Amino acid sequence: MENKSKKTENSIIRSKIMKSVKQKNTGPEMIVRKILSGLGYRYRLYRKDLPGTPDIVFVNRKKAIFINGCFWHRHNCPKASIPKTNKKYWENKFKDNVIRDQDNYLKLKELGWRVFVVWQCELHDLNKISRKLVRFIEGKKEKSHL
Ligand SMILES: [Zn+2]
Repeated sequence: MENKSKKTENSIIRSKIMKSVKQKNTGPEMIVRKILSGLGYRYRLYRKDLPGTPDIVFVNRKKAIFINGCFWHRHNCPKASIPKTNKKYWENKFKDNVIRDQDNYLKLKELGWRVFVVWQCELHDLNKISRKLVRFIEGKKEKSHL
């Protein structure tokens, strides 16, 4: 019995990892792209020449959007649970991810870019995230929203 539950737990963790590994054209990104296209915005994808390869980029406006999975990028929400097995390993791994994210955002800002992070869980309220996106894209003076 114990063996079985361990197996289940491992496979849950594995599927969480698979989902959170940075992939192109994943669900959350497609939702954000659809929102932006629907609003008539034109954008570029995955600019590798910019720190952190932002998911969506408005070149002329110098604005970059990252669509972050809550688990992998450690959002302050229930989706960002820590796996019960190998806790220390995961804590270190997550710490590295968070540091790398912050480092990329800082580098972008130093280059004069503004950065907006869409968290996966925010996509449950499409109206709200659409308004936030428009405010970020159209906004001129406000600071980066992270
Ligand atoms: Zn979240």
